Amino acid sequence: MDIKSGLTGTIGNTPLIRLDWASRQAGCTILGKAEFLNPGGSVKDRAALALITDAERRGVLKPGGTIVEGTAGNTGIGLTHVGNARGYKTIIVMPETQSQEKKDTLRLLGADLRLVPAVPFKDPGNYVHVSRRIAEETGAFWANQFDNTANRQGHMETTGPEIYDQSGGTVTAFTAAVGTGGTLAGVSMALKARNPAIRCVAADPHGSGIYDWIKTGTPKAEGSSITEGIGQGRVTANLDGAPLDDAIRVSDAEALEVLYALLQQDGLLLGGSAGINVAAAIRLGQQLGPDAVVATILCDGGARYQSKLFNPDFLRPLNLPTPPWL
Ligand code: PMP
Repeated sequence: MDIKSGLTGTIGNTPLIRLDWASRQAGCTILGKAEFLNPGGSVKDRAALALITDAERRGVLKPGGTIVEGTAGNTGIGLTHVGNARGYKTIIVMPETQSQEKKDTLRLLGADLRLVPAVPFKDPGNYVHVSRRIAEETGAFWANQFDNTANRQGHMETTGPEIYDQSGGTVTAFTAAVGTGGTLAGVSMALKARNPAIRCVAADPHGSGIYDWIKTGTPKAEGSSITEGIGQGRVTANLDGAPLDDAIRVSDAEALEVLYALLQQDGLLLGGSAGINVAAAIRLGQQLGPDAVVATILCDGGARYQSKLFNPDFLRPLNLPTPPWL
């Protein structure tokens, strides 16, 4: 018998895929963890399940309760799927700049979606602070994915060990971009615990401070990126103490070229952060040489960003590459 226990039984245990085109570019083996195959369509289903399960265990989320979270969308989608399956309501606060597809999905799932202007973290109107205040005012549970380390603990217990075991212990390096830092920190901790020689590297878009934090000790953010769900200007509790060896900066143009090649050459339709991750994995593989086995995260699918990443009318005014077949 192989019967999953409801929706939550289908989260995680995603396939690890050898990416042929990317491996040829890198001159070594590049592996992608197919997180777009989670039921809510992204790696954030894992964080949602970990945050909810931890809150239930601590008794801070009661039967029939409400979950509030600030999110670029995917964590909200994960929380609403798991919330529906376990009898919780969700209030999701999201910057209005995020993709229409994610907003539509959240409404479809039944989330109470509150869109707010995209302002920096230091502004009290930032989506994270708005979500915290709603939780305080209503007595609901604030998931707090950025600074609640149940997030990275989930990746330490599932994503990291899966990558190590599925590669048969052959993985030599790992790279991923940072939103909350839960994925990068949790996976890196699990891999280093199994083999301290595994190189763990942050992939960082423009407009994010993680590259400078790792290179100089101070997060400094310059420029901007059209990718969603990644980029961070501070050291979150989930990122703090992550065993990282280096950082790689990837431009939007480079990530888009990788996304289009992954679709045309390997048949994979992926989102922007997966483009950043695979671009960084290729460069890391080129640095490390032909024996390297570099794993990364295919965070979500491209249909969620059709109106942006695969839309020439959106890309051309930004002077960004467009899908060659469109
Ligand atoms: N990619 C996408 C598409 C995301 O939504 C997120 C989460 N914000 C990430 C990557 C980053 O994951 P994490 O929060 O674990 O750093």
